[in-house]
Amino acid sequence: MNIRTNSALGAFMAATLLAGAAHADGVVNIYTYRQPELIQPVLDAFTAETGIKTEVLFLDKGLEERVQAEGANSPVDVIMTVDISRLTKAKEAGITQALNDEKVNALLPAEYRDPEGHWFGLTKRARVVYASKDRVKDTSITYADLADPKWKGKLCMRSGQHDYNLALISAAIAHWGPEKTEEWLKGVKANLGRKPDGGDRPQAGAIFAGECDIALGNTYYVGLMRTNEKEPQEKEWGNAINVLFPTFENGGTHVNISGIALAKNAPNRDNAVKLIEFLASDEAQQIYAQKNYEYPVEPGLAASQEVQSFGELTADTLPLAEIASHRKEASEMVDRVGLDDGPSS
Ligand code: FE
Repeated sequence: MNIRTNSALGAFMAATLLAGAAHADGVVNIYTYRQPELIQPVLDAFTAETGIKTEVLFLDKGLEERVQAEGANSPVDVIMTVDISRLTKAKEAGITQALNDEKVNALLPAEYRDPEGHWFGLTKRARVVYASKDRVKDTSITYADLADPKWKGKLCMRSGQHDYNLALISAAIAHWGPEKTEEWLKGVKANLGRKPDGGDRPQAGAIFAGECDIALGNTYYVGLMRTNEKEPQEKEWGNAINVLFPTFENGGTHVNISGIALAKNAPNRDNAVKLIEFLASDEAQQIYAQKNYEYPVEPGLAASQEVQSFGELTADTLPLAEIASHRKEASEMVDRVGLDDGPSS
């Protein structure tokens, strides 16, 4: 009995020592706002190639605050999240460090990474128009067209204060300047069919239900809706719409990114850099983007069949760092115009 206890204890201690050793040289610790199932396939590919294990901590809020509180003892090596605003927020919170890596810089286009190397875009998503298959015959609608009175009472969207819409409005400010953008936003408000509410998917639901004819939404939700075996209703929403790629005058469609940042204190820095280099590679970008119905950031790499069926994306070349710089202005504009009050007030 004693012997068995001892040997069990011995095995436990050996396992602990092994885990300790693995922690020292075979691990990279990831904090993420992304659903773990979205990043696991590409992390598995990384482990298969390098032998480096990944530990993922999923947070739905408070990531920056947590890393700040952990301070110099923080175990986090890299932060993975969506949206330029969250990547910018991590940088501003002082929880990231600059990385100047030749390999990564050569693979990832400059417009999708921080000029100072604090964050890197890995996948991109376009903010497009969902258009009713039954009721909309237009084959192209520009961003400017969303304010055209012909759409009065026919446009649905989520809150203007949501990150995705703030990034789009910020891009408009960068292209058109604040005055023209504010006039446009007033026109958008006048065209609303209802008070902005819910996520992007319910806007497609509103088109399915006949409440609206067009809506603003991200591309990947269309793939997620159309393949949603768990919620067949979403398949109906996804199949009720066509994807139209609106453009600014330069011919580009607004895109946002999911990305990665090297944590300030990264205890496994070398492994973290290997992970970032791996995720920048063509192979990894394709796995990551295809699993999530996103696009690789590098032009010329294939998206999934479902995403390709939307049509061809010509991404705006405006640097995301410039878009991020207009965020506060965009947010104040949304309030000033009263976008979230809906069409009538
Ligand atoms: Fe989303």
